[in-house]
Amino acid sequence: MLFDDQQVEKLVGVETPFYYYDLTLLERTLDAAKNAADKRNFHIHYALKANFNDRILSIIQSKGFGADCVSGNEVQKSIDVGFDAGKITFAGVGKSDKEIIAALKYQIFAFNVESIQELEVINALAADLGEKANVSLRINPNVDAHTHHYITTGLDENKFGVPNSELEQAAAVLRSCEHVNLVGLHFHVGSQITDMNVFKSLCVKVNEWKSWFEERGTYIKVINVGGGLGVDYHAPDENPIPDFEAYFDVFDKFLDRNGQQEVHFELGRALVAQCGSLVSKVLYTKSGTKKHFLILDAGMTELMRPALYQAYHKIEKVGADQYAKTINYDVVGPICESSDCFGKEVPLPESKRGDLIAVRTAGAYGEVMASRYNLREEIRYIYSK
Ligand SMILES: *Cc1c(COP(=O)(O)O)cnc(C)c1O
Repeated sequence: MLFDDQQVEKLVGVETPFYYYDLTLLERTLDAAKNAADKRNFHIHYALKANFNDRILSIIQSKGFGADCVSGNEVQKSIDVGFDAGKITFAGVGKSDKEIIAALKYQIFAFNVESIQELEVINALAADLGEKANVSLRINPNVDAHTHHYITTGLDENKFGVPNSELEQAAAVLRSCEHVNLVGLHFHVGSQITDMNVFKSLCVKVNEWKSWFEERGTYIKVINVGGGLGVDYHAPDENPIPDFEAYFDVFDKFLDRNGQQEVHFELGRALVAQCGSLVSKVLYTKSGTKKHFLILDAGMTELMRPALYQAYHKIEKVGADQYAKTINYDVVGPICESSDCFGKEVPLPESKRGDLIAVRTAGAYGEVMASRYNLREEIRYIYSK
């Protein structure tokens, strides 16, 4: 249960829908991740794209994490929130010239470069500014993350990274570019990965590519293995904090590295997903011959994951009466799209107009994907400590 009885009382009259962020859980999660990483001398860059809410970012920044950005605005935001430029990376397949120039001026830690052409563009723009850009080459490891195909990124068929067939050429271009400096290799296989064997396979590929470069006389200082650690969407109360020890242990065991080589991670979801919930009110109930519907005042405009990639989120009634009978509801939003549905046949205590419903584990890829489609109101949020 998200709220105890006292908290439920405080919610009477609060305008819905809103994102509810449990900042205590956020801090506990960050501490667990940081401790497990520090122990092994691993570095974490938080992937801003999962959630760039100001309050959340400043807590993450204050704990000493770096920032992993995928747009010029995310780089700017990290700087504004106080992240150290030396701990900011900039990834993405389509960086514009304007974004590259801005990041060069901030002297960020590194660009994660995704193509040979991009390497040449960064070299030229850095030359114009009289700068030298640190880059990591993103290599497509061709490891199947075994998650939904929309969130798998590390296969040959995906748009991400330099194709393996072009690495020879990339290495040659790197040698000829005077305004870029190769600091590392970058890999990312996908998101919401809970099977540690996927990361083990990644380590094997990373070791192969690292040796490939080293055999050609290129020293790799930083091994960036991306993010992707999953969370438990089915049992947020039982498993609020991912098993960071087990996750980092895989890399500790299977990644070859010498004393000076740094290992970087880019975690997003694992750090912020469980601290957020979307709280919404039942506007209407409706029963047809086959279905019972709960029509909420939140929809895909507030949380798009179910509509976008059939993602599962646990749905619960706030302040549920344990004696109420259970009904299987299709829980839907008000948006004029059939895909605007949070869950089908969800067993819930019988509900009525005005009841509150919480959609759990919504702290990652929730608020950040909110849209004004249907000219919806801007999203609200409440923080708890
Ligand atoms: C999205 C993304 C991440 C973060 O992924 P999570 O699954 O949220 O940990 C990290 N690195 C890259 C390159 C990404 O695209």
